[in-house]
Amino acid sequence: MIQHYPRHYASARRAFLDGAKGAVTSHEIKARGPDGEALHMDLTVLGPADARQVLVITSGVHGLELFAGSRCQSRLLADADRLPADLKVVLVHAANPWGAAHVRRNNELNVDLCRNFYDTDNPPSRNEDYERVHELLLEAGNNGMEGHEAMAALAGIRSDLGERRYNEAVMGGQYRHRDGFAFGGFAPSESRKVLEPWLLKHTDGAQEVVMLDLHTGLGEHGAATVVSMQQGAALTQAQAWYGARLVAPAQTDAAEFPEVRGHTTPGYERLLLGRSVLSVIVEFGTYAHERVMKALLADHWSEHSGIHPAHQALIKDELLECFSPVSREWIEAVDQAFDTVLTETLTGMQA
Ligand SMILES: [Zn+2]
Repeated sequence: MIQHYPRHYASARRAFLDGAKGAVTSHEIKARGPDGEALHMDLTVLGPADARQVLVITSGVHGLELFAGSRCQSRLLADADRLPADLKVVLVHAANPWGAAHVRRNNELNVDLCRNFYDTDNPPSRNEDYERVHELLLEAGNNGMEGHEAMAALAGIRSDLGERRYNEAVMGGQYRHRDGFAFGGFAPSESRKVLEPWLLKHTDGAQEVVMLDLHTGLGEHGAATVVSMQQGAALTQAQAWYGARLVAPAQTDAAEFPEVRGHTTPGYERLLLGRSVLSVIVEFGTYAHERVMKALLADHWSEHSGIHPAHQALIKDELLECFSPVSREWIEAVDQAFDTVLTETLTGMQA
């Protein structure tokens, strides 16, 4: 049994490489770690190359959310016997290694990868409501008076727009402000340009592709919430597999699940056209939405405010706690939650 889980990029990567016994495809990204070290996206494959069904499990699309997902992948590598012999499993480790190494949600260009998979032939709509909150969001994480005033102004906009529309303004994705919140980028990111050919190559010839993208920070502490951004048959199938665990933002009024632009899910659907694709986000809950948002806003502010490194370290510490709690109970609950979701997935795929 793995006693601890690494909350550090290099240690998480080391565990993954060890688990994969060196059978890894790696891409060194252009950006470097905080100490100038090289950073990699890594991929390993289990099972037959020409399988009819492929299960893809990705971690660290939101950089600092890597650690729980990495642990799930390492545990699966250590327990690969539980997988059906005719299933191919593709594990992608640290889709956003820069964010993992620097303890940030976004990548080196402040791009949220979950807003970067937009259709390049049909760019996403403009987020008009975001224009009202952009300047305020830059200041809201400031723990001085300026931040206090920005938060008060945001609260006014929030009551004006309503909870869900406010969350869509803040989190729904925007493509104008490179220093902004939920920035989807001006172009496909390096990670996307690596992921897409990897996914095409490793699903070539498959009829059915199921994708689990592992995240943290949303939902109940230690529990798994499965989020489907799909519609039609894929959504119906996900509902049958995951039952009450499944949330579909398109079908709920829940404010914490806004609809977003440029999400990976429609990006994968376009990429894998012609195959049956079921793609879900698996969120392991940590703390209350308010606390997580507060930590993200403080980090957002600290990135451009030039504060003292000791102050920034405190902000990073709380941010990391919000996405990878230091808690034996939490990570053991995540182990169980992942095992349940994996069992439901494998059962569904075999039906
Ligand atoms: Zn995430």
